[in-house]
Amino acid sequence: MALSQYQMFINGQWVDAQSGARFDSLNPANAEPWASFPRAQEADVDAAVQAAQNAFENPAWRNLHATARGKLLRKLGDLIAANKERLAQLETNDNGKLIRETMGQIGYMPEFFYYYAGQADKLEGQTLPLDKVDMFAYTTHEPLGVVAAIIPWNSPMYLTAVKLAPALAAGNTVVLKPSEHASTTIIELMHLVKEAGFPDGVVNVVTGFGADTGSALTKHPLVRRIAFTGGSQGAKAVVKNSAENLAQLSLELGGKSPNIIFEDTDIGSAVNGVIAGIFAASGQSCVAGSRLLVQESVYHEFLEALKARAQTIVIGDPMDPSSEMGPMATQAQLALVERMVAAAQAQGATLIYGGKRAAVTGDGWYYQPTILAVDSNQCSIMQEEVFGPVASIMRFTDEAHALALANDSEFGLAAGIWTRDNGRVHRMSKAVQACIIWVNTYRAVSPMGAIGGFKASGYGRESGIYGVKDYTQLKTVWINTSSEPIADPFVMR
Ligand code: NAD
Repeated sequence: MALSQYQMFINGQWVDAQSGARFDSLNPANAEPWASFPRAQEADVDAAVQAAQNAFENPAWRNLHATARGKLLRKLGDLIAANKERLAQLETNDNGKLIRETMGQIGYMPEFFYYYAGQADKLEGQTLPLDKVDMFAYTTHEPLGVVAAIIPWNSPMYLTAVKLAPALAAGNTVVLKPSEHASTTIIELMHLVKEAGFPDGVVNVVTGFGADTGSALTKHPLVRRIAFTGGSQGAKAVVKNSAENLAQLSLELGGKSPNIIFEDTDIGSAVNGVIAGIFAASGQSCVAGSRLLVQESVYHEFLEALKARAQTIVIGDPMDPSSEMGPMATQAQLALVERMVAAAQAQGATLIYGGKRAAVTGDGWYYQPTILAVDSNQCSIMQEEVFGPVASIMRFTDEAHALALANDSEFGLAAGIWTRDNGRVHRMSKAVQACIIWVNTYRAVSPMGAIGGFKASGYGRESGIYGVKDYTQLKTVWINTSSEPIADPFVMR
Protein backbone atom coordinates (compact mmCIF):
# COMPACT_ATOMS: atom_id res chain seq x y z
CA MET A 1 0.00 0.00 0.00
CA ALA A 2 1.37 3.47 -0.91
CA LEU A 3 2.11 5.53 2.18
CA SER A 4 0.34 8.84 2.70
CA GLN A 5 3.12 11.46 2.46
CA TYR A 6 2.77 14.32 4.93
CA GLN A 7 4.67 17.59 5.20
CA MET A 8 5.23 19.99 8.08
CA PHE A 9 3.52 23.36 8.32
CA ILE A 10 5.90 26.28 8.90
CA ASN A 11 5.03 29.93 8.29
CA GLY A 12 1.92 28.95 6.35
CA GLN A 13 3.92 26.74 3.94
CA TRP A 14 4.04 22.96 3.51
CA VAL A 15 7.66 21.85 3.88
CA ASP A 16 9.89 18.77 4.24
CA ALA A 17 12.75 18.50 6.70
CA GLN A 18 15.81 20.38 5.43
CA SER A 19 17.79 17.11 5.64
CA GLY A 20 15.10 15.25 3.66
CA ALA A 21 14.86 12.65 6.48
CA ARG A 22 11.49 10.96 7.04
CA PHE A 23 9.92 8.37 9.33
CA ASP A 24 6.86 6.11 9.05
CA SER A 25 3.82 5.70 11.27
CA LEU A 26 2.38 2.19 11.72
CA ASN A 27 -1.31 1.36 11.92
CA PRO A 28 -1.83 -0.44 15.28
CA ALA A 29 -4.70 -2.51 13.84
CA ASN A 30 -2.43 -4.36 11.39
CA ALA A 31 1.14 -3.25 12.27
CA GLU A 32 1.62 -1.92 8.71
CA PRO A 33 3.19 1.44 7.82
CA TRP A 34 0.54 3.74 6.42
CA ALA A 35 1.90 7.30 6.59
CA SER A 36 5.28 9.04 6.33
CA PHE A 37 6.42 12.30 7.97
CA PRO A 38 9.43 14.64 7.80
CA ARG A 39 11.90 14.09 10.63
CA ALA A 40 12.62 17.60 11.87
CA GLN A 41 16.03 18.48 13.26
CA GLU A 42 17.31 21.64 14.94
CA ALA A 43 17.32 23.74 11.73
CA ASP A 44 13.67 22.89 10.99
CA VAL A 45 12.65 23.62 14.57
CA ASP A 46 14.52 26.90 14.43
CA ALA A 47 12.66 27.88 11.24
CA ALA A 48 9.31 27.10 12.89
CA VAL A 49 10.11 29.03 16.08
CA GLN A 50 11.43 32.00 14.08
CA ALA A 51 8.23 31.98 12.03
CA ALA A 52 6.17 31.95 15.23
CA GLN A 53 8.26 34.78 16.73
CA ASN A 54 7.89 36.87 13.55
CA ALA A 55 4.15 36.24 13.55
CA PHE A 56 3.98 37.27 17.21
CA GLU A 57 5.60 40.60 16.33
CA ASN A 58 3.61 41.05 13.10
CA PRO A 59 0.81 43.65 13.44
CA ALA A 60 -1.45 41.27 11.47
CA TRP A 61 -1.59 39.19 14.68
CA ARG A 62 -0.21 41.52 17.34
CA ASN A 63 -2.79 44.23 16.63
CA LEU A 64 -5.70 41.91 15.97
CA HIS A 65 -8.11 42.70 18.78
CA ALA A 66 -9.24 39.99 21.13
CA THR A 67 -12.77 39.78 19.71
CA ALA A 68 -11.31 39.15 16.24
CA ARG A 69 -9.05 36.40 17.67
CA GLY A 70 -12.17 34.88 19.19
CA LYS A 71 -13.91 34.91 15.80
CA LEU A 72 -10.97 33.06 14.22
CA LEU A 73 -11.16 30.42 16.95
CA ARG A 74 -14.89 30.06 16.42
CA LYS A 75 -14.32 29.58 12.68
CA LEU A 76 -11.69 26.94 13.42
CA GLY A 77 -14.16 25.15 15.70
CA ASP A 78 -16.76 25.17 12.90
CA LEU A 79 -14.21 23.73 10.45
CA ILE A 80 -13.29 20.94 12.88
CA ALA A 81 -16.98 20.13 13.26
CA ALA A 82 -17.38 19.99 9.47
CA ASN A 83 -14.35 17.64 9.15
CA LYS A 84 -14.84 15.50 12.24
CA GLU A 85 -15.45 12.18 10.45
CA ARG A 86 -12.33 12.46 8.30
CA LEU A 87 -10.23 13.54 11.31
CA ALA A 88 -11.62 10.71 13.45
CA GLN A 89 -10.74 8.11 10.79
CA LEU A 90 -7.20 9.45 10.53
CA GLU A 91 -6.73 9.44 14.30
CA THR A 92 -8.01 5.86 14.50
CA ASN A 93 -5.51 4.83 11.80
CA ASP A 94 -2.74 6.53 13.74
CA ASN A 95 -3.28 5.38 17.32
CA GLY A 96 -5.77 2.51 17.04
CA LYS A 97 -8.39 4.19 19.20
CA LEU A 98 -11.93 3.01 18.44
CA ILE A 99 -13.68 5.03 15.75
CA ARG A 100 -16.62 5.40 18.13
CA GLU A 101 -14.22 7.02 20.64
CA THR A 102 -12.40 9.29 18.15
CA MET A 103 -15.73 10.34 16.64
CA GLY A 104 -17.04 11.24 20.09
CA GLN A 105 -13.86 13.01 21.16
CA ILE A 106 -13.21 14.95 17.94
CA GLY A 107 -16.92 15.69 17.58
CA TYR A 108 -16.69 17.44 20.97
CA MET A 109 -13.47 19.36 20.13
CA PRO A 110 -15.24 22.39 18.61
CA GLU A 111 -16.66 23.12 22.06
CA PHE A 112 -13.11 23.81 23.33
CA PHE A 113 -12.51 26.31 20.51
CA TYR A 114 -15.89 27.97 21.13
CA TYR A 115 -15.24 28.18 24.88
CA TYR A 116 -11.84 29.85 24.41
CA ALA A 117 -13.23 32.02 21.58
CA GLY A 118 -15.53 33.41 24.26
CA GLN A 119 -12.66 33.85 26.73
CA ALA A 120 -10.48 35.84 24.31
CA ASP A 121 -12.10 39.24 24.99
CA LYS A 122 -12.86 38.54 28.64
CA LEU A 123 -9.28 38.50 29.87
CA GLU A 124 -9.90 41.63 31.84
CA GLY A 125 -7.36 43.34 34.04
CA GLN A 126 -8.07 45.26 37.25
CA THR A 127 -7.71 48.76 38.56
CA LEU A 128 -5.74 48.71 41.81
CA PRO A 129 -7.01 50.50 44.96
CA LEU A 130 -3.56 51.98 45.61
CA ASP A 131 -2.27 53.37 48.89
CA LYS A 132 -1.03 56.46 46.99
CA VAL A 133 -3.22 59.50 46.34
CA ASP A 134 -1.87 60.76 43.02
CA MET A 135 -1.32 57.44 41.39
CA PHE A 136 -3.58 55.31 39.22
CA ALA A 137 -2.64 51.74 38.36
CA TYR A 138 -4.18 48.97 36.32
CA THR A 139 -3.22 45.48 35.21
CA THR A 140 -3.47 43.76 31.83
CA HIS A 141 -3.02 40.14 30.75
CA GLU A 142 -0.35 40.08 28.05
CA PRO A 143 0.50 37.13 25.80
CA LEU A 144 3.83 35.41 26.47
CA GLY A 145 5.13 34.92 22.93
CA VAL A 146 6.01 31.61 21.27
CA VAL A 147 4.37 28.57 22.88
CA ALA A 148 5.86 25.09 22.31
CA ALA A 149 3.13 22.45 22.62
CA ILE A 150 4.28 18.82 22.99
CA ILE A 151 1.54 16.26 22.36
CA PRO A 152 1.38 12.50 23.14
CA TRP A 153 -0.22 9.85 20.94
CA ASN A 154 -3.25 8.79 22.92
CA SER A 155 -5.59 11.75 22.18
CA PRO A 156 -3.73 14.06 19.78
CA MET A 157 -6.64 16.30 18.79
CA TYR A 158 -8.01 16.72 22.31
CA LEU A 159 -4.59 17.36 23.85
CA THR A 160 -3.82 19.88 21.11
CA ALA A 161 -7.16 21.67 21.53
CA VAL A 162 -6.62 22.28 25.26
CA LYS A 163 -3.30 23.98 24.48
CA LEU A 164 -3.86 25.62 21.10
CA ALA A 165 -7.23 27.25 21.80
CA PRO A 166 -6.26 29.07 25.04
CA ALA A 167 -2.77 29.96 23.75
CA LEU A 168 -4.29 31.65 20.67
CA ALA A 169 -7.15 33.22 22.63
CA ALA A 170 -4.52 34.97 24.76
CA GLY A 171 -2.65 36.23 21.66
CA ASN A 172 0.37 33.90 21.62
CA THR A 173 1.77 32.05 18.62
CA VAL A 174 2.35 28.29 18.67
CA VAL A 175 4.68 25.56 17.45
CA LEU A 176 3.08 22.12 17.86
CA LYS A 177 5.07 18.90 18.04
CA PRO A 178 2.77 15.89 17.81
CA SER A 179 3.87 12.43 18.86
CA GLU A 180 6.01 10.46 16.42
CA HIS A 181 3.29 7.76 16.67
CA ALA A 182 0.32 9.97 15.80
CA SER A 183 1.05 13.14 13.83
CA THR A 184 -1.60 12.99 11.11
CA THR A 185 -4.57 14.81 12.59
CA ILE A 186 -2.41 17.67 13.84
CA ILE A 187 -1.04 18.19 10.32
CA GLU A 188 -4.55 17.96 8.86
CA LEU A 189 -5.68 20.52 11.42
CA MET A 190 -3.27 23.00 9.81
CA HIS A 191 -5.34 22.99 6.60
CA LEU A 192 -8.22 24.16 8.77
CA VAL A 193 -6.06 26.75 10.57
CA LYS A 194 -5.18 28.22 7.17
CA GLU A 195 -8.78 28.10 5.96
CA ALA A 196 -9.98 29.80 9.15
CA GLY A 197 -7.74 32.77 8.28
CA PHE A 198 -5.02 32.77 10.95
CA PRO A 199 -2.02 34.80 9.67
CA ASP A 200 0.98 32.75 8.49
CA GLY A 201 3.31 31.68 11.28
CA VAL A 202 0.73 31.96 14.07
CA VAL A 203 0.43 28.16 14.19
CA ASN A 204 3.21 25.82 13.00
CA VAL A 205 3.80 22.06 13.18
CA VAL A 206 7.12 20.20 13.31
CA THR A 207 7.13 16.39 13.21
CA GLY A 208 9.72 14.06 14.67
CA PHE A 209 10.97 12.31 17.78
CA GLY A 210 11.23 13.57 21.34
CA ALA A 211 14.99 13.33 21.71
CA ASP A 212 15.81 15.52 18.70
CA THR A 213 12.73 17.49 17.51
CA GLY A 214 11.10 17.84 20.94
CA SER A 215 14.36 18.60 22.64
CA ALA A 216 15.39 21.28 20.10
CA LEU A 217 11.96 22.89 20.46
CA THR A 218 11.79 22.96 24.25
CA LYS A 219 15.26 24.48 24.65
CA HIS A 220 14.91 27.06 21.84
CA PRO A 221 15.82 30.52 23.18
CA LEU A 222 12.72 32.19 21.64
CA VAL A 223 10.24 29.80 23.27
CA ARG A 224 8.56 31.52 26.24
CA ARG A 225 6.06 28.85 27.31
CA ILE A 226 6.09 25.04 27.09
CA ALA A 227 2.94 22.96 27.39
CA PHE A 228 3.96 19.31 27.74
CA THR A 229 1.70 16.26 27.94
CA GLY A 230 3.39 12.89 28.18
CA GLY A 231 5.30 10.56 30.46
CA SER A 232 7.56 11.46 33.37
CA GLN A 233 10.79 10.61 31.54
CA GLY A 234 10.09 13.10 28.75
CA ALA A 235 8.84 15.62 31.33
CA LYS A 236 12.11 15.51 33.26
CA ALA A 237 14.06 16.12 30.04
CA VAL A 238 11.79 19.06 29.20
CA VAL A 239 12.22 20.58 32.67
CA LYS A 240 16.01 20.41 32.15
CA ASN A 241 15.66 21.92 28.66
CA SER A 242 13.63 24.81 30.07
CA ALA A 243 16.66 25.74 32.17
CA GLU A 244 18.16 26.90 28.85
CA ASN A 245 15.38 29.33 27.90
CA LEU A 246 13.63 29.76 31.29
CA ALA A 247 10.30 29.19 29.54
CA GLN A 248 7.21 28.83 31.72
CA LEU A 249 6.04 25.24 31.93
CA SER A 250 2.93 23.17 32.37
CA LEU A 251 3.25 19.41 32.73
CA GLU A 252 0.31 17.02 32.22
CA LEU A 253 1.70 13.63 33.15
CA GLY A 254 0.61 10.14 34.05
CA GLY A 255 -1.55 8.70 36.78
CA LYS A 256 -2.45 5.63 38.81
CA SER A 257 -5.93 6.79 39.59
CA PRO A 258 -8.00 5.02 42.28
CA ASN A 259 -11.61 4.11 41.57
CA ILE A 260 -13.10 3.57 45.04
CA ILE A 261 -16.23 1.44 45.42
CA PHE A 262 -18.09 1.64 48.75
CA GLU A 263 -20.57 -1.01 49.88
CA ASP A 264 -23.58 1.33 49.65
CA THR A 265 -23.20 1.94 45.91
CA ASP A 266 -25.19 0.44 43.06
CA ILE A 267 -22.84 -2.34 41.91
CA GLY A 268 -24.09 -2.38 38.29
CA SER A 269 -23.44 1.35 37.88
CA ALA A 270 -20.03 1.07 39.51
CA VAL A 271 -19.05 -1.82 37.20
CA ASN A 272 -20.01 0.25 34.15
CA GLY A 273 -18.10 3.24 35.50
CA VAL A 274 -15.06 1.11 36.22
CA ILE A 275 -15.16 -0.48 32.74
CA ALA A 276 -15.34 3.00 31.14
CA GLY A 277 -12.51 4.14 33.38
CA ILE A 278 -10.01 1.41 32.59
CA PHE A 279 -10.94 -0.41 29.37
CA ALA A 280 -12.00 2.56 27.19
CA ALA A 281 -9.14 3.52 24.84
CA SER A 282 -7.65 0.13 25.85
CA GLY A 283 -6.53 1.78 29.08
CA GLN A 284 -4.32 4.24 27.19
CA SER A 285 -5.67 7.22 29.02
CA CYS A 286 -3.88 9.42 31.55
CA VAL A 287 -6.95 9.39 33.79
CA ALA A 288 -7.48 5.60 33.53
CA GLY A 289 -9.02 4.33 36.77
CA SER A 290 -6.44 1.59 37.08
CA ARG A 291 -6.50 0.99 40.87
CA LEU A 292 -9.81 -0.49 41.95
CA LEU A 293 -10.35 -0.22 45.71
CA VAL A 294 -13.45 -2.16 46.77
CA GLN A 295 -15.01 -2.44 50.23
CA GLU A 296 -14.61 -6.01 51.45
CA SER A 297 -18.34 -6.63 52.09
CA VAL A 298 -19.09 -6.24 48.35
CA TYR A 299 -15.69 -7.30 47.01
CA HIS A 300 -16.72 -10.73 45.65
CA GLU A 301 -20.02 -9.51 44.21
CA PHE A 302 -18.25 -6.61 42.48
CA LEU A 303 -15.38 -8.75 41.20
CA GLU A 304 -17.75 -11.37 39.72
CA ALA A 305 -19.83 -8.68 37.96
CA LEU A 306 -16.69 -6.96 36.64
CA LYS A 307 -15.23 -10.22 35.38
CA ALA A 308 -18.51 -11.19 33.71
CA ARG A 309 -18.63 -7.89 31.80
CA ALA A 310 -14.91 -7.96 30.90
CA GLN A 311 -15.37 -11.42 29.36
CA THR A 312 -17.97 -10.08 26.95
CA ILE A 313 -15.97 -7.06 25.74
CA VAL A 314 -15.73 -7.24 21.95
CA ILE A 315 -12.10 -6.76 20.91
CA GLY A 316 -11.58 -5.95 17.25
CA ASP A 317 -10.80 -3.62 14.38
CA PRO A 318 -11.00 -0.07 15.74
CA MET A 319 -12.70 1.05 12.50
CA ASP A 320 -15.57 -1.35 13.21
CA PRO A 321 -18.25 0.55 15.16
CA SER A 322 -19.22 -2.66 16.98
CA SER A 323 -15.74 -3.10 18.52
CA GLU A 324 -15.59 -2.25 22.22
CA MET A 325 -11.81 -2.42 22.62
CA GLY A 326 -9.12 -1.83 20.00
CA PRO A 327 -5.37 -2.45 19.89
CA MET A 328 -2.53 -0.93 21.87
CA ALA A 329 -1.10 2.06 19.98
CA THR A 330 2.44 0.72 19.62
CA GLN A 331 4.26 -2.59 19.78
CA ALA A 332 6.43 -1.19 22.57
CA GLN A 333 3.31 -0.37 24.60
CA LEU A 334 2.03 -3.93 24.11
CA ALA A 335 5.38 -5.35 25.27
CA LEU A 336 5.35 -3.03 28.30
CA VAL A 337 1.88 -4.22 29.32
CA GLU A 338 3.00 -7.85 29.04
CA ARG A 339 6.08 -7.18 31.19
CA MET A 340 4.10 -5.32 33.85
CA VAL A 341 1.43 -8.03 34.13
CA ALA A 342 4.13 -10.71 34.42
CA ALA A 343 5.97 -8.67 37.08
CA ALA A 344 2.77 -8.28 39.12
CA GLN A 345 2.11 -12.01 38.98
CA ALA A 346 5.69 -12.70 40.07
CA GLN A 347 4.98 -10.48 43.11
CA GLY A 348 1.90 -12.54 44.03
CA ALA A 349 -0.93 -10.86 42.11
CA THR A 350 -3.70 -13.27 41.05
CA LEU A 351 -4.88 -13.17 37.45
CA ILE A 352 -8.69 -12.97 37.50
CA TYR A 353 -9.18 -12.46 33.77
CA GLY A 354 -7.18 -11.70 30.62
CA GLY A 355 -3.41 -11.42 30.82
CA LYS A 356 -2.77 -12.40 27.19
CA ARG A 357 -2.66 -10.99 23.69
CA ALA A 358 -6.14 -11.06 22.21
CA ALA A 359 -6.82 -13.27 19.20
CA VAL A 360 -7.87 -10.86 16.46
CA THR A 361 -7.16 -11.58 12.80
CA GLY A 362 -4.07 -9.79 11.42
CA ASP A 363 -0.92 -8.61 13.14
CA GLY A 364 -2.40 -5.83 15.27
CA TRP A 365 -1.29 -5.18 18.84
CA TYR A 366 -4.36 -6.39 20.73
CA TYR A 367 -4.38 -7.24 24.44
CA GLN A 368 -7.20 -8.66 26.53
CA PRO A 369 -8.96 -6.62 29.19
CA THR A 370 -7.12 -7.79 32.28
CA ILE A 371 -8.00 -7.93 35.97
CA LEU A 372 -5.39 -8.67 38.65
CA ALA A 373 -6.29 -9.14 42.31
CA VAL A 374 -3.64 -7.90 44.74
CA ASP A 375 -3.37 -7.73 48.49
CA SER A 376 -0.67 -5.09 48.76
CA ASN A 377 -0.69 -1.51 47.56
CA GLN A 378 3.09 -1.85 47.22
CA CYS A 379 2.75 -4.35 44.36
CA SER A 380 4.26 -2.64 41.29
CA ILE A 381 0.95 -2.85 39.40
CA MET A 382 -0.63 -0.65 42.13
CA GLN A 383 2.13 1.95 41.97
CA GLU A 384 3.32 2.20 38.35
CA GLU A 385 1.34 3.51 35.39
CA VAL A 386 0.66 0.71 32.86
CA PHE A 387 -1.14 2.77 30.19
CA GLY A 388 -2.95 -0.36 29.08
CA PRO A 389 -6.16 -2.31 29.80
CA VAL A 390 -5.08 -3.61 33.20
CA ALA A 391 -7.19 -3.12 36.32
CA SER A 392 -5.67 -4.11 39.63
CA ILE A 393 -8.18 -4.67 42.40
CA MET A 394 -7.69 -4.59 46.17
CA ARG A 395 -10.13 -4.71 49.07
CA PHE A 396 -10.44 -2.18 51.90
CA THR A 397 -12.14 -2.31 55.29
CA ASP A 398 -13.48 1.19 55.94
CA GLU A 399 -13.34 4.81 54.75
CA ALA A 400 -10.05 5.56 56.50
CA HIS A 401 -8.45 2.50 54.93
CA ALA A 402 -9.77 3.45 51.47
CA LEU A 403 -8.39 6.98 51.84
CA ALA A 404 -4.98 5.78 52.99
CA LEU A 405 -4.73 3.41 50.00
CA ALA A 406 -5.99 6.06 47.55
CA ASN A 407 -3.36 8.58 48.63
CA ASP A 408 -0.53 6.04 48.87
CA SER A 409 0.69 6.87 45.35
CA GLU A 410 3.24 9.20 43.81
CA PHE A 411 0.55 10.26 41.31
CA GLY A 412 -2.49 12.50 41.80
CA LEU A 413 -4.35 12.96 38.54
CA ALA A 414 -7.92 11.69 39.03
CA ALA A 415 -10.07 9.55 41.34
CA GLY A 416 -13.52 7.96 41.26
CA ILE A 417 -15.72 7.63 44.37
CA TRP A 418 -18.81 5.40 44.26
CA THR A 419 -21.17 5.88 47.20
CA ARG A 420 -24.68 7.14 48.05
CA ASP A 421 -23.55 8.72 51.32
CA ASN A 422 -23.42 12.52 50.82
CA GLY A 423 -21.28 13.17 53.86
CA ARG A 424 -18.75 10.63 52.64
CA VAL A 425 -18.78 12.22 49.19
CA HIS A 426 -17.59 15.51 50.70
CA ARG A 427 -15.14 13.95 53.17
CA MET A 428 -13.49 11.83 50.51
CA SER A 429 -13.53 14.54 47.81
CA LYS A 430 -11.71 16.87 50.17
CA ALA A 431 -9.13 14.35 51.32
CA VAL A 432 -8.23 12.46 48.13
CA GLN A 433 -5.10 13.97 46.57
CA ALA A 434 -6.02 14.37 42.90
CA CYS A 435 -6.96 17.19 40.53
CA ILE A 436 -10.19 15.57 39.35
CA ILE A 437 -12.66 13.80 41.64
CA TRP A 438 -15.50 12.01 39.87
CA VAL A 439 -18.36 11.00 42.16
CA ASN A 440 -20.65 8.23 40.85
CA THR A 441 -19.27 8.80 37.36
CA TYR A 442 -15.91 8.54 35.57
CA ARG A 443 -14.20 10.31 32.65
CA ALA A 444 -16.59 13.27 32.42
CA VAL A 445 -14.80 16.06 30.52
CA SER A 446 -15.73 19.64 29.62
CA PRO A 447 -13.93 22.75 28.35
CA MET A 448 -14.95 24.37 31.67
CA GLY A 449 -13.42 21.69 33.91
CA ALA A 450 -9.70 22.08 34.59
CA ILE A 451 -7.43 19.06 34.42
CA GLY A 452 -3.91 18.76 35.78
CA GLY A 453 -1.84 16.95 38.32
CA PHE A 454 -1.23 16.78 42.04
CA LYS A 455 2.16 15.33 43.03
CA ALA A 456 4.04 13.54 40.20
CA SER A 457 1.10 13.91 37.81
CA GLY A 458 2.40 17.36 36.88
CA TYR A 459 1.63 21.02 37.42
CA GLY A 460 -0.34 23.77 35.70
CA ARG A 461 -3.94 23.29 34.58
CA GLU A 462 -5.56 22.81 31.18
CA SER A 463 -9.18 23.64 30.29
CA GLY A 464 -11.32 26.11 32.17
CA ILE A 465 -10.48 29.71 32.96
CA TYR A 466 -7.09 28.70 34.44
CA GLY A 467 -6.28 27.19 31.07
CA VAL A 468 -6.19 30.61 29.41
CA LYS A 469 -4.69 32.63 32.28
CA ASP A 470 -1.73 30.24 32.18
CA TYR A 471 -0.91 31.56 28.71
CA THR A 472 -0.66 35.17 29.85
CA GLN A 473 1.66 37.32 31.93
CA LEU A 474 0.40 40.10 34.15
CA LYS A 475 1.48 43.68 33.48
CA THR A 476 0.96 46.56 35.94
CA VAL A 477 0.79 50.11 34.57
CA TRP A 478 1.44 53.04 37.02
CA ILE A 479 0.21 56.54 36.05
CA ASN A 480 0.99 59.67 38.00
CA THR A 481 -2.22 61.75 37.94
CA SER A 482 -0.83 64.75 39.81
CA SER A 483 -0.59 68.11 38.05
CA GLU A 484 2.38 69.03 40.28
CA PRO A 485 5.90 68.89 38.78
CA ILE A 486 8.04 65.92 39.78
CA ALA A 487 10.38 66.89 42.61
CA ASP A 488 14.15 66.45 42.29
CA PRO A 489 14.72 63.02 43.97
CA PHE A 490 18.10 64.11 45.38
CA VAL A 491 16.82 67.15 47.20
CA MET A 492 15.78 66.21 50.72
CA ARG A 493 12.56 67.81 52.00
P1 NAD B 1 5.98 10.48 25.88
O1 NAD B 1 6.47 11.24 27.07
O2 NAD B 1 6.80 9.36 25.37
O3 NAD B 1 5.80 11.46 24.63
C1 NAD B 1 4.97 12.60 24.72
C2 NAD B 1 5.50 13.65 23.77
O4 NAD B 1 6.73 14.13 24.30
C3 NAD B 1 5.81 13.14 22.36
O5 NAD B 1 5.50 14.14 21.41
C4 NAD B 1 7.32 12.93 22.42
O6 NAD B 1 7.95 12.98 21.17
C5 NAD B 1 7.74 14.08 23.32
N1 NAD B 1 9.01 13.89 24.00
C6 NAD B 1 9.52 12.75 24.51
N2 NAD B 1 10.76 12.99 25.03
C7 NAD B 1 10.99 14.31 24.85
C8 NAD B 1 12.10 15.17 25.16
N3 NAD B 1 13.21 14.71 25.72
N4 NAD B 1 12.00 16.47 24.84
C9 NAD B 1 10.88 16.97 24.26
N5 NAD B 1 9.83 16.20 23.91
C10 NAD B 1 9.87 14.89 24.21
O7 NAD B 1 4.51 10.04 26.22
P2 NAD B 1 3.53 9.15 25.33
O8 NAD B 1 4.01 7.75 25.41
O9 NAD B 1 3.35 9.78 24.00
O10 NAD B 1 2.16 9.34 26.14
C11 NAD B 1 1.85 8.59 27.25
C12 NAD B 1 2.06 9.36 28.52
O11 NAD B 1 1.37 10.61 28.46
C13 NAD B 1 1.49 8.63 29.71
O12 NAD B 1 2.35 8.71 30.82
C14 NAD B 1 0.19 9.38 29.98
O13 NAD B 1 -0.28 9.25 31.29
C15 NAD B 1 0.58 10.78 29.64
N6 NAD B 1 -0.61 11.59 29.35
C16 NAD B 1 -1.00 12.55 30.25
C17 NAD B 1 -2.16 13.29 30.04
C18 NAD B 1 -2.63 14.36 31.01
O14 NAD B 1 -3.46 15.19 30.63
N7 NAD B 1 -2.18 14.36 32.26
C19 NAD B 1 -2.90 13.07 28.87
C20 NAD B 1 -2.48 12.08 27.99
C21 NAD B 1 -1.33 11.36 28.24
